[in-house]
Amino acid sequence: NKQIIFCDYISGFPKETDFVLKTNTIRLKLPRGSNGVLVKNLYLSCDAYMRFRMTKGGNSVVSAFKPGSPMVGYGVARVLDSGSQEMKKGDVVWGFTGWEEYSFITDIKSFVKIKYTDVPLSYYAGILGKAGMTAYAGLHEICSPKKGEYVFVSAAAGAVGQLVGQFAMLMGCYVVGCAGSNEKVHLLKNKLMFHEAFNYNEEHNLDAALKRYFPKGIDIYFENVGGEMIDAVLLNMRRNGRIAMCGAISQYNLDQPYGVQNLSCIISKSIRMEGFVVLDYYEEHYTKFVELARRYILEEKIVYMEDVVEGLENGPSALLGLFSGCNTGKQVVAVAHE
Ligand code: NDP
Repeated sequence: NKQIIFCDYISGFPKETDFVLKTNTIRLKLPRGSNGVLVKNLYLSCDAYMRFRMTKGGNSVVSAFKPGSPMVGYGVARVLDSGSQEMKKGDVVWGFTGWEEYSFITDIKSFVKIKYTDVPLSYYAGILGKAGMTAYAGLHEICSPKKGEYVFVSAAAGAVGQLVGQFAMLMGCYVVGCAGSNEKVHLLKNKLMFHEAFNYNEEHNLDAALKRYFPKGIDIYFENVGGEMIDAVLLNMRRNGRIAMCGAISQYNLDQPYGVQNLSCIISKSIRMEGFVVLDYYEEHYTKFVELARRYILEEKIVYMEDVVEGLENGPSALLGLFSGCNTGKQVVAVAHE
């Protein structure tokens, strides 16, 4: 059983040497009397929040990884053996699993049994899993978009951002996204059909760039990156604007986070800025969300970009790539295909 072991807690940017690949021998059978499941891992999701799990103590939402143990994260897996009434051999599930070929899962509460297999199974590591739910909850539940509103999305060519932009366009909004390369901007404009997109690395003055793309101001901002971008956005929000505080990836590896200066705009423009954790939305919204998103996929109303790297051993570099924008779309690691 190949495993990606987390070596030890870190500060600053993660490196490939923070992980090591190990192989051990296991019996592909559940221990007698177990009410858990033995799964074969198929696809693993690379997520920025995993950086918090690499810091001693984790954060208020997630606990830290255990040094010397396999990494854990969201993934799609096939049940090989089950001691639970709820799952049987052959079922496909998504939820928390190990960064390894096979995992014994004792706590199966985090697993969702996959109902629809007429879409690629890897999608449950993204659009039909956490990334999709995050885009949906943040946009619809926090920002309540209305037809004709002006929407701005950062990290727009990433897992969540690509979906936020397309969900907002389906609501009849005007959508602009930003990303870190001209290739991503091209995809946003020509494949995902965003109304506009720009490369933030080529803008010396983010405030001026936003004024160019939003001469009438921004109604909704979906925040994925933090730092200077949120300051520039605050200057360009319209009255009664809404900001979904989803993430701040530019800050996760910094010892000294950026200090936002324009918070007073929240008062003067009556802006509602709300943070959220996607975990709080699964119970109420996942069942209806998956029906909706699957329909969008099958009817080709959504273009979904996936960045699939082959092989468990390439997982760490794929995960680190999130922090330098190596991924286009959802970053997934394919451990096995069935
Ligand atoms: P992405 O697929 O968007 O990957 C991360 C992207 O962030 C990179 O591709 C890169 O794109 C961009 N990025 C990296 N470093 C920087 C930087 N210093 N400045 C600006 N952009 C940067 O990830 P996700 O879609 O999975 O996640 C997006 C955000 O949502 C993250 O902040 C994540 O933590 C958050 N999140 C929050 C959840 C919640 O429950 N609140 C749930 C899921 C995600 P580029 O090339 O454009 O720079």
